[in-house]
Amino acid sequence: MKKKLAVVALGGNALLRGDQIGTIDEQEENTTQTLENLIFLINEGYDLVITHGNGPQVGNILMRNDAGEQLYNIAQMPVDICVADSQGGIGYMIERMFRNVLNRNGLTRNVVCLVTQVVVDRNDPAFNDPQKRIGKIYTREEADSLAMKKGWIFREEVKTDGGFRRVVPSPIPIDIMNHTIIGDLARQGNIVIAAGGGGVPVYIDEKNDVRPAEVVIDKDRASALLASMIGAEEFYILTDVPYIFINYKKPDQEIREFLDYADTLKYLREGHFAKGSMAPKIEACLSFLEKGGKMAVITEAFKLADKKYGSKITMEYEQ
Ligand code: ADP
Ligand code: MG
Repeated sequence: MKKKLAVVALGGNALLRGDQIGTIDEQEENTTQTLENLIFLINEGYDLVITHGNGPQVGNILMRNDAGEQLYNIAQMPVDICVADSQGGIGYMIERMFRNVLNRNGLTRNVVCLVTQVVVDRNDPAFNDPQKRIGKIYTREEADSLAMKKGWIFREEVKTDGGFRRVVPSPIPIDIMNHTIIGDLARQGNIVIAAGGGGVPVYIDEKNDVRPAEVVIDKDRASALLASMIGAEEFYILTDVPYIFINYKKPDQEIREFLDYADTLKYLREGHFAKGSMAPKIEACLSFLEKGGKMAVITEAFKLADKKYGSKITMEYEQ
């Protein structure tokens, strides 16, 4: 029997919950719980590629950068380096937790973490419209001075108590470096952690050189692209809701457990999925199915086991 390959994207919540401050003990505990839920996929014979978000972690790295510059005059590192740092730190943690979870379940697998560059198009329209807020909140004076010194672009905060945050573009990923190696390693039975935080953002210049991009890439988009490039059969997005809902948080809210492509697209167009959170996940799932993926699942990180929970999207409706 041909083994199935699954890409599992761990959301911020799978590593760090909103009500926690982000100590390493908390992250290790959450990660372990999440990974325990993946054991059943391994026992069902799946090969696995793990991807992950890095929002809170890269946010902390950017703040340390800022503090280091102010206190000790340490040069700030660009966004690509910060993402690479976060891939190393988070990837190592997932790897070590996974080794321990495998050991406790009597399983033996290699677990390998790859610093992964993800390519964007320098002509992506997102470059003309930076929207993704990163790093700390500055006062107007600080923001003006940083804009002068570093050429950063700022936007005013609306939700919190004001202040300004740096915004960077979030272009669409077009290629995942080393994707054939990621796929091969996984199909040989190794658990591969890759494309963390949406990938280290790079672009290819006119001389074919690889250049860093001062952008962040959506982790769900990058994970979906990786999943289709390596021909994964299934794509799991683990987040902090057990199901996709329509009329979310309204009195007539309804769970959707089994969805087909057409209905999901209809719900997306009707605006059932919030822009910065669920909509990119749905778009990622739809693009995975368009490119030949068999099933995309969105569910809560801690509830994946035995497939009892979760919304399952397939090209044709099936139950
Ligand atoms: P992650 O950090 O795991 O990537 P996000 O916070 O970006 O997750 O997205 C998950 C969030 O999407 C949920 O916490 C939920 O509040 C929100 N959401 C928006 N619309 C919906 C919907 N229609 N059904 C379920 N969740 C939704
Ligand atoms: Mg979240």
